[in-house]
Amino acid sequence: MRVTQLLVPTTKETPNDATLPSHIFLVRAGFIQGVGSGLYNFLPLGKRSLDRVQRVVKEELDKAGAQEVSLGFVTPASLWRESGRFDKYGKELLRFKDRKDNDFVLGPTHEEMMVNLVKGSVKSYKELPLNLYQINLKFRDEIRPRFGLMRGREFLMKDGYSFHVSHEDMYREFCLMEETYKKIFTRLGLEFRIVEADSGAIGGSGSKEFMVLAESGEDTIVVCDSCEYGANIEAAVRAPKGCEVEPPEANYSLFRTPDTTTIEQLSEFFKVDPYYLVKTVAKRALLDDGESKIVLFALRGSDELQETKATNAAKANELVDISAEELEKAGLIAGYMGPVIVPEGIELICDETLKGAANLICGANEKDYHIVGVDLGALECKFSDLVAVAEGDGCPHCNGKLGYTKGIEVGHIFQLGTRYSDPLGANFLDENGKSVPFIMGTYGIGVSRLLAAIIEQHHDENGCIWTRESAPFDLTIIVSNAKDEEQMNFALSIYEELRGKGLEVLLDDSKERFGFKMKNYELIGIPYGLIIGKNLADGSVELVRREGLVKETLSTENLAEVVAGKLC
Ligand code: ATP
Ligand code: MG
Repeated sequence: MRVTQLLVPTTKETPNDATLPSHIFLVRAGFIQGVGSGLYNFLPLGKRSLDRVQRVVKEELDKAGAQEVSLGFVTPASLWRESGRFDKYGKELLRFKDRKDNDFVLGPTHEEMMVNLVKGSVKSYKELPLNLYQINLKFRDEIRPRFGLMRGREFLMKDGYSFHVSHEDMYREFCLMEETYKKIFTRLGLEFRIVEADSGAIGGSGSKEFMVLAESGEDTIVVCDSCEYGANIEAAVRAPKGCEVEPPEANYSLFRTPDTTTIEQLSEFFKVDPYYLVKTVAKRALLDDGESKIVLFALRGSDELQETKATNAAKANELVDISAEELEKAGLIAGYMGPVIVPEGIELICDETLKGAANLICGANEKDYHIVGVDLGALECKFSDLVAVAEGDGCPHCNGKLGYTKGIEVGHIFQLGTRYSDPLGANFLDENGKSVPFIMGTYGIGVSRLLAAIIEQHHDENGCIWTRESAPFDLTIIVSNAKDEEQMNFALSIYEELRGKGLEVLLDDSKERFGFKMKNYELIGIPYGLIIGKNLADGSVELVRREGLVKETLSTENLAEVVAGKLC
């Protein structure tokens, strides 16, 4: 491809809403064009990179025995009603009606559609296992679309679904997909980490996320400093944590504690370590069908509540804060709540570390009063892990310490079980002729997000640095002076020769100044540039590597052979 024929509108202008390097450079280098909040057009360079990334994904999945299909983007709402997700999914799900008043959704994920496809075509255990995937558009009406391709509303996802006769066979496939994903992200030149994950709205248990390590990542991940353990903060656990300070001794009694509404103030007031104080947080839990309930979450004062764990424990779709008036109406006293005295009709969920705990101080649910000498041994309520793991906590698997790092979620694999096959009545006949639901796994990759993730990890102050298998071209030939016939002829011949060797080559044959061309080369970020300049007369040209902008002089003799050797 010649630059003079290519639509590549590079610009010095940074888009107003762009803060991340990937967003800025993908727009400035002419890969994508914003058309609305979370909506992007892919220009020729962007489409080429997207296609190459897709090819890597497809090649590895096909090698692993998965089969590609393509499902409708517009999905009948009836399937979503059957699975129970039509109401549960929230506002991210774009619902609409056709001219006959039938309800539809734009697929944000395709479990229902894929289960329906298999339900209609697979009858017997003999046809299993099966792993079907597609690389297709998704739409999620994200509350905060941002960072360009990183969090779009319309985006490209690879979504795969596997169908099995047993949990063992599904687990085998889950492990195969983990290995396959490792190969995909390694081929794309990414530094990533596999972490344990929360299963979110899709449900099911046993899921892992693939996180590209980058400062700008939206996810906080917890990693061990001495073993492989890694988990999303939403799912991270820690080694049991005690307290070196002696517990406060007291008999159960009410204690006046005026203006002492925070853990800090309470700790100061009683001169007691926060470990022995109970932190009680009230939230409104939003449930299906517009229903909601108030839930009290109690945990040790030394710990923080992890919102996703709390949401799951309350079996809620979302937790929201409660206003002071609402609290009062429910009979709760802000700053003085506790797990011992809970008004009727309010659910209490305690953190597991409070099970059987004694020598505690908690709110009395009475203004200006706390209770000391609290023993929760006889407390009857739901106990669940509610704690956000903190930096410095102990690793659950070794003696190491846990720390935080940031990641971009580019892949997610789930052991799904019968979460969808059950409600959708997707059954097959097993070996004994019995009708049973498919055991499923599901596997996603954010294909368009990968472009952003690659640039977040691979850029410098001048622009993109594409990795070998994600670059729109392998090499740019930069003709220093396109008006110089000798330079141009040589460039054209080497261009043809390199293309003949199977390389994707871009020829910058534009009449722009050399400095401008180099700036563009750096902004676009193709892995290698071959500069045909003044030294051609002496039989030499320069090969520049985009990463680090390292240059080397090469002889024009046997040049195509030498360049192809270096690139492969
Ligand atoms: P996130 O936590 O980032 O919102 P998710 O967990 O909701 O993502 P999944 O349902 O697991 O996403 O979707 C599979 C993959 O699709 C994700 O791992 C991610 O790479 C990608 N993805 C999800 N939402 C978006 C989005 N709004 N824009 C681009 N890619 C996305
Ligand atoms: Mg996910």
